[in-house]
Amino acid sequence: MNPLPRHDHYIAGEWTAPADGGYFASVNPATAEPWYEAASGTAADVDRAVTAARTAFEDPRWRDLSQTRRGRLLRNLGDLIGEHAERLARTETLDNGKLLREMRAQLAGLPEYFHYYAGLADKIQGDVIPGASRELLNYTLREPVGVVGAITPWNSPLLLTATKLAPALAAGNTVVVKPSEHTSASLLALAPLFEEAGFPPGVVNVVTGYGPDAGAPLAEHAGVAKVTFTGSSGTGRRIARVCADRLIGCTLELGGKSPNIIFPDADLGSAAMGVIAGIFAAAGQTCVAGSRVLVHREVYDEVLERVTARAATIRIGDPLAETTELGPLAIAEQLAKVESYVELGQAEGGKVVCGGRRPETGLAGYFYSPTVFTGTDNGMRICQEEIFGPVATVMPFGSEEEALAIANDSAYGLAAGVWTRDVNRVHRMAARLEAGTVWVNTYRSMSPMSPRAGFKTSGMGTEHGTEVIREYTRLKSVWINTSEEPAGDPFILRS
Ligand code: NAD
Repeated sequence: MNPLPRHDHYIAGEWTAPADGGYFASVNPATAEPWYEAASGTAADVDRAVTAARTAFEDPRWRDLSQTRRGRLLRNLGDLIGEHAERLARTETLDNGKLLREMRAQLAGLPEYFHYYAGLADKIQGDVIPGASRELLNYTLREPVGVVGAITPWNSPLLLTATKLAPALAAGNTVVVKPSEHTSASLLALAPLFEEAGFPPGVVNVVTGYGPDAGAPLAEHAGVAKVTFTGSSGTGRRIARVCADRLIGCTLELGGKSPNIIFPDADLGSAAMGVIAGIFAAAGQTCVAGSRVLVHREVYDEVLERVTARAATIRIGDPLAETTELGPLAIAEQLAKVESYVELGQAEGGKVVCGGRRPETGLAGYFYSPTVFTGTDNGMRICQEEIFGPVATVMPFGSEEEALAIANDSAYGLAAGVWTRDVNRVHRMAARLEAGTVWVNTYRSMSPMSPRAGFKTSGMGTEHGTEVIREYTRLKSVWINTSEEPAGDPFILRS
């Protein structure tokens, strides 16, 4: 048998073998076969990468680059990603099992993230502060923080890296990325494009490996000035504790248990498709999955019928095939987790009206059928805990107040969907839903321009949009005495 292709870390623009010589295999979830090996990072590798990033941060080739030039490099990178989009999309599908059609769409949109922050790079600026006295000039400098440690999950590897990398670089930082151990391939394929785009070596570095071995040392490294993390709330909490101890900032984009709420005046056909998109696209492996479907009693039966009818016809199979609608779960552990939640939901008294099993696909991968529960109460664990798979609970409500109460009765607050034609209700719901994103008569829309934040245990800080620049900069206040007068009374504060 041919050995699997092997990938090293990418540090200071060089492929770098792991310090302890270890590698691990990554599995294609559609076939359950390993298809490459990546370097198993440890604290020693992280140290090399952070040192390279720190050296690059202080290198005049990066430090003294004008902000406009920085923007140009980001634009180059976006263009290069566009040129390599098909290859990168295929790599992601082989790694995480998401549909090639979906990864193609994601990769086609990815250059926009770099282009957006390319345009923003030379608009990052401080202010002149009006002073109480004419003689004192006070202005602010918005400076990069230094080395950013970025830790990402497996569900949309490059997209979730781009949302960190593009603004961090636009602000003048250098970065060490630790991708998920399940999906290292696409970022490794992208890595040589950093230098091709014109970034000096060491501005972006990639260390692969497991969370506790490579992710934890990155968050703990004294040379890292800021951590940005996307992943589960459990890991996010751990990282927040490390950052609190080190007194550095962290941005956290975490899990969800999002409500998708259908009122009787909605276009029920579109609403049912919104439910399908919310929970079965990407096999439910999206942080914003609309896993709690709340339907007004008047239309409950009709919506349930539409959703289960479509769910039953979803084409499950090879994610590379154009006609497939649902691929496998990304990892064996995720399949086991989904199976155990479906058992738990039934034990709690819920009824499976669709799916609830592994389908026949003829493939050895980690497939699970689109599953719909009825008879659930929002207090049940399957309604409170993130499953991260194709499992929806469909629950009735009788009034807007009741819908809001159920929707907000969650530890999470990432996203929410509302389906109605009543414009007043739209605004009432948007104002009162405890979620960082509210979609009305649509679901899963996103853009680099629109801020994205998780409320409650769904996160801390903001990504996307212009606000994110605050996450990657520090503000310095500079005071200059322009007066030629001799210094006054030293015991009195000047303002
Ligand atoms: P995860 O928390 O298991 O892992 C995420 C990353 O953290 C991986 O790179 C992992 O290696 C690393 N890690 C694990 N333990 C660590 C530790 N102790 N210290 C430092 N790093 C560590 O999450 P996952 O299973 O890869 O991803 C799925 C989760 O991500 C879901 O909860 C999903 O909702 C969430 N997610 C959130 C968003 C968002 O924008 N809010 C987007 C996508 C996914």
